[in-house]
Amino acid sequence: MRIILLGSPGAGKGTLADEIVRKYPAAHISTGDIFRENVKNATPLGQEARKYMDSGALVPDSVVLAMMQGRLEQDDCREGFILDGFPRTVPQATALDSMLEELGVKLDAVVLLEASEETVVRRLSGRRVCRKCGAIYNLYFRPSSRGDICEKCGGELYQRDDDREEVVRSRLEVYNSQTAPLIDYYSAGRALVRISSERDGGGSPLEELERALGLVE
Ligand code: AMP
Repeated sequence: MRIILLGSPGAGKGTLADEIVRKYPAAHISTGDIFRENVKNATPLGQEARKYMDSGALVPDSVVLAMMQGRLEQDDCREGFILDGFPRTVPQATALDSMLEELGVKLDAVVLLEASEETVVRRLSGRRVCRKCGAIYNLYFRPSSRGDICEKCGGELYQRDDDREEVVRSRLEVYNSQTAPLIDYYSAGRALVRISSERDGGGSPLEELERALGLVE
């Protein structure tokens, strides 16, 4: 399965990607996770990326593309990949087109995950992450029963710098100005699948995606 997940920060791309790779053979590639890992390990890439991430800005295309170069050729992508948070600009999308052409593979779908601005602000500003095991909680939707301690491993829960409300607002502005144009880019001549990540009784996002791809009735 080869899929691009589009959608604003907090639309639920990471959660859906995790669900897909639990069920289907595909690598979950989150450029945000790769940058955060590099920030944590204080690599040169992490130090460069951090300058932009802390304020909610995008890391420059040249840095993102250098990092993605060769990534889709790695073994774990042989049966598929779920791109979460990449591409995020039109130049990244055209570069991805070339990468796919070189690899001789085609996308199965470009999925647009949609949620209201109010929901995404609560999802992001309420998100808390375990420092030790990475488990994710939410103050509004899924609080830890142990307050600011992880239920699973006892680690400390923290808020990502870029999940502070003022940074969330600027990430959403960046999304609207730089990433939303990809909706038109991928609508032209390709199948763009729109899925709501807000439950309204219509099934989970994964079920909706499976139906759209003809994987289930
Ligand atoms: P995410 O976890 O996907 O919201 O990404 C966190 C941050 O990493 C973003 O706010 C950007 O600063 C940076 N980032 C992740 N992916 C990209 C990308 N494809 N292009 C530019 N910046 C990115």
